[in-house]
Amino acid sequence: MRKPFVAGNWKMNTDSQSSVDLAGRVGSGSSGVAGQTVDVAVCPPFVYLQSVVRAVAVSSVAVGAQDIYFEAKGAFTGEISASMLKDIGCTYVLCGHSERRHVIGETDDLINKKVIAAISGGLLPILCVGELQSEREAGLTNEVVTRHVKNGLSDLGREKASAVTIAYEPVWAIGTGLTATPEQAQEVHAFIRGLLAEMYDADLAAETRILYGGSVKPGNAAELMAREDIDGLLVGGASLKADDFLAIVQAAA
Ligand code: PEP
Repeated sequence: MRKPFVAGNWKMNTDSQSSVDLAGRVGSGSSGVAGQTVDVAVCPPFVYLQSVVRAVAVSSVAVGAQDIYFEAKGAFTGEISASMLKDIGCTYVLCGHSERRHVIGETDDLINKKVIAAISGGLLPILCVGELQSEREAGLTNEVVTRHVKNGLSDLGREKASAVTIAYEPVWAIGTGLTATPEQAQEVHAFIRGLLAEMYDADLAAETRILYGGSVKPGNAAELMAREDIDGLLVGGASLKADDFLAIVQAAA
């Protein structure tokens, strides 16, 4: 049985005060469900991670980072390692978010190194995959998703792969207000689960949580969550408003 999982990606938003306020409201507002009927995480910018970890400490809300570097330590100016994030209380890390793929220019190879480093450093990676609008229109969705999943999990044995959550985020639906229909999302989620069964086995495929992301709002969360292979939601814009994010958490719980 896959426990639903809702994660908020705050991207490059909030400040020192509003990050703590938002985290505190998510923590108190999700008591009774977070950690019980739904796993909940927030992913603030690096500089607010420690204060957000403190703000949610009395709740069952976990904290994730939005990125890591794959080396453990050393002369990598500006970078942050998995063990540093673990050390300050992070549980999760996003790997391969579409903004890192398409704005920053991360490759599948780099993302794979980050997934491996996250697990080695004791974090649970959320591997983001998904096609561009042009790729969907060209009928390439399954091909792109296959490449992202296979390359993202390259060299990961079964045990390590079981630490990974996949997030299907069609790029054309991220921050655009366009949401994949529940049917479109379900189709790709089922495809990804089949891929995991091929790459590993049916048990791993059945256990792996596959989140949907792309303009999730309180108004569409329940119908997405009702689909068989949609196990949770990765939420960007709506995670910046405590009431909206909590309504999404409730819809998933
Ligand atoms: C995201 O950042 O992962 C995301 C899905 O953003 P939004 O919900 O704003 O589309």
